[in-house]
Amino acid sequence: MIQAIRGTKDILPSEIENWYFLENIFRSVSDTFGYKELKTPIFEKTEVFSRGIGDGTDIVNKEMYTFDDRGGESLTLRPEATAALVRSVIQNKLANAGTAQKFWYFGPFFRYERPQKGRLRQFHQYGAECLATDKPESDVEVILLANSIIKKAGISDYKLLLNSLGNDSSRAEYRKALIEYLENKKEQLSEDSQSRLQINPLRVLDSKDKRDIDIVKDAPILSNYFDEESKNHFTIVTSMLDNLGVQYEISPKLVRGLDYYSHTVFEFQSSALGAQDSFGGGGRYNKLFSELGGKDTPAVGFAFGVERLLLILEELKLLPEAKTDCDIFIVAAGDGIQNYSFKIAQELRDSGLRVAVDLNDRSMKAQMRASNKSGAIFTILIGEDELNNNTVTIKNMGDSTQVNIAYNELSNFTFNIA
Ligand code: AMP
Repeated sequence: MIQAIRGTKDILPSEIENWYFLENIFRSVSDTFGYKELKTPIFEKTEVFSRGIGDGTDIVNKEMYTFDDRGGESLTLRPEATAALVRSVIQNKLANAGTAQKFWYFGPFFRYERPQKGRLRQFHQYGAECLATDKPESDVEVILLANSIIKKAGISDYKLLLNSLGNDSSRAEYRKALIEYLENKKEQLSEDSQSRLQINPLRVLDSKDKRDIDIVKDAPILSNYFDEESKNHFTIVTSMLDNLGVQYEISPKLVRGLDYYSHTVFEFQSSALGAQDSFGGGGRYNKLFSELGGKDTPAVGFAFGVERLLLILEELKLLPEAKTDCDIFIVAAGDGIQNYSFKIAQELRDSGLRVAVDLNDRSMKAQMRASNKSGAIFTILIGEDELNNNTVTIKNMGDSTQVNIAYNELSNFTFNIA
């Protein structure tokens, strides 16, 4: 038997309603915030991600699905959306300085990671980006958007971790101090952190390796290196969140994996998830546009992992009730009856009802059983009598009452489908 690729998953009919449940929330909440959907292709030129995300990151170094196409061009299945979205915004000239442009996206992403619960090689993200403003108010707005989605999905027990990476010059000062501190203890660091030390030293701060955690405990603190601009930006963000009653925890070691962040970074965590407890995150990225050849355009955004949101909903028993197979099941047996039952089915479907008919030429009894199993609210019974008299018998499956009505009356009949 041919199996699906490791780390990929079929979304089965029994699960699809859960996806629609979230997708509807993504769409409707984004709309209330005035964010517009933008869909980029699944693959891009590799440089979109290697330049955009940064050469020192795990994503670019270890996790990208990169291949040469038949024309010899290096292409990559998108591992995240932001760099691709920025490429699209530059190419389609969608950003105007001085006016915030707001976009959202939803779709599959690809990373060559070690699969485990909540970690896949093809996974889905919903995310939003607010472009062309460097104001802290826009950081607050995207956090509020994320929060509204979580709340609308019914999740109340989660943590919002918040940190600031400061502006470029503050971070450059800090970087020097951090490298100096870590160089002195290089031998005690994990192998990964030793190799990251010069390229991406901030990543050492959020390493999960015990050796690194011990050393990071006494590392210099980023916020001590903040200049006025860095301090002001973050103060506005936190005081607005305080005023709006948004709960958060300051997490000084939160740096997030990607090179392009500055100022505000944040992450959402849920204890319902186990080891992979982060279900979303984001931050401000002011340099990405210029890295990708566009005009300097400050921006802020975030992404949720949709499979992880679904795991939380499942764990907290918040998934929507499964949909029934149909509203009305037509039980019809007898010679020449199918034309009649199909005609009725079609008319009812045209009026918006969900109607199933038997496709296996089964006995009346077997069809009745199938109707029961389908969860139909009404069964329409058609036998010889109904066919000869041009009537139908409608059975209410809830209270088992039955009425026989003329075919002509069917369009006036009120099917009470809750
Ligand atoms: P990132 O783009 O790495 O900031 O990830 C944002 C969110 O996407 C994470 O918080 C996860 O919920 C989700 N995510 C990232 N990588 C994976 C993966 N390999 N499998 C499933 N979800 C993922």
